[in-house]
Amino acid sequence: MSAVLKTSDEQVPLVSLRNLNKHYGDFAAVDNINLDIRDGEFLTFLGSSGSGKSTTLAMLAGFETPSSGEILVNGQSLVKVPPHKRDIGMVFQRYSLFPHLDVRANIAFPLTLRKLSTAEIEKRVDAMLKLVQLEAFAHRRPAQLSGGQQQRVAIARALVYEPRILLMDEPLGALDKKLREDLQDELRHLHRRLGITIVYVTHDQEEAMRLSQRIAIFSHGKIVGLGTGSDLYQAPPSAFVASFLGNSNFLRAKVVDTQQAMFEQRPLLVPAQSTQHLGQEVLLMIRPEQAQLLTVEQANATPLPLGHNEIDARVEEIVFLGESLTCSVITAGGSRLSLKALSIAATAHQPGSEVRVRWQAARTCIYYDWNESDLLKGAGSH
Ligand code: ADP
Ligand code: MG
Repeated sequence: MSAVLKTSDEQVPLVSLRNLNKHYGDFAAVDNINLDIRDGEFLTFLGSSGSGKSTTLAMLAGFETPSSGEILVNGQSLVKVPPHKRDIGMVFQRYSLFPHLDVRANIAFPLTLRKLSTAEIEKRVDAMLKLVQLEAFAHRRPAQLSGGQQQRVAIARALVYEPRILLMDEPLGALDKKLREDLQDELRHLHRRLGITIVYVTHDQEEAMRLSQRIAIFSHGKIVGLGTGSDLYQAPPSAFVASFLGNSNFLRAKVVDTQQAMFEQRPLLVPAQSTQHLGQEVLLMIRPEQAQLLTVEQANATPLPLGHNEIDARVEEIVFLGESLTCSVITAGGSRLSLKALSIAATAHQPGSEVRVRWQAARTCIYYDWNESDLLKGAGSH
C-alpha cells in the first residue's frame, strides 16, 4: 500500500535517537539508546549521577560526537551538523553568563552573533525580558543578580533565537529548594506558552515529576523506563524503577498458583500470573500510600473487602510530616513496610501496637528478576 495512514499516536517524532552509543575506551557512557522525542513535549532524563544523561544531551546539542548510532531531526541526520546550526538552545547548571555584559547584552548575544538588525534585536530582547520577568534588571550585570535571576537570564538567552528545541542540563541544581520550585512552575508555564520541545536533565525525581510530560529513566547508560510520571509510579516496569521513583515496599514471596503468592507462610492474592511462574521467587511491590493501616479492633469490626490482602504487623515508628505521616511496621517474619497516611486518618496508632495492613491485590506489582542492589533506595544517586 502506498498511502500511509497515521493516527496521532504514530506521528513522526521530532527527534529520534537510534542505537546511540558513546564509549570512552571500554566504558559505555551511553549504551545503545533508542528514543523518540515528540514535537512540543517536555521530556526529562532522570537518573543518578553518572548514568549517561548529560552525555546523551551533549550528543543532541552537538558538543559530543556519538561513537555510533544516529540522531535524526524530522528524519534528517544531525550527526554532521555543527552545534550552532542545530536549531537547539542549551541551558546548563552553571549560568555561564558573560560577567562583563549586562542582562540585555547577555540575552542579545546569540542574535548579535547571528547578525540580526539592531531593531530586530531590541524587539526580541524586550520580549524575552518580559517573558522571564526581568525588565527591571535589564542593565544589571550577572554579579548583581541572585542565582535564580541569573538562571532566568540564561533561559532567556537560550530562547531568544527561537530554537525549536531547548536542552537543559540540571539548570536549577545550584538553587535552593523554594526558588527551585518557583522556577519549576515558571518553566512549566513557559513551556505551555511557547509550545517548544524541551529535553531536561535532572537527578531529582520530584523535579522530574513536577515538570515533565514524559520521563526517561537512565541507569548505566541505558533507558530503563519511559512514560508519564504517573505511569512509571503506578506501574514501574522493574524493581529498579519502583525503588528509584518514589518509595516502595518489597515483599519476598513465592508464586503458588496463578493468583496467589506465599509470603511468610501466608497466601496473598496477586494479579493473575501465567502458570510458567509457579514456584518462582518473586518480589511484590506496594506503594506506601496504597496500603491501609488498621488497629486490630478496627480490622475485626470491618470484614476484609473482596480482592484485598491483609497481614499482621507491629508499629515500629511513626514520623509526623504535617499533612501526612509515615508509619514503619514490621511483620512476624521480620519484613519491614513503610506506610503513608493522612495525619487526620491515622491518629489511632502508637509505636509498639499491633496492626493489620490491608491493600487491594490489584495494586500489587510483581517482579520476577531483579538485582538486590536495585532495591536500595536511590542507589548511587547524590
Ligand atoms: P550524568 O549526566 O548522568 O551524571 P554523564 O553523562 O555525565 O552522567 O556521564 C556518564 C558516564 O560517562 C560517567 O561515568 C562519566 O564519568 C563518564 N564520562 C563522561 N564524560 C567522560 C569523558 N570525557 N571521559 C571519560 N568518561 C567520561
Ligand atoms: Mg550530568
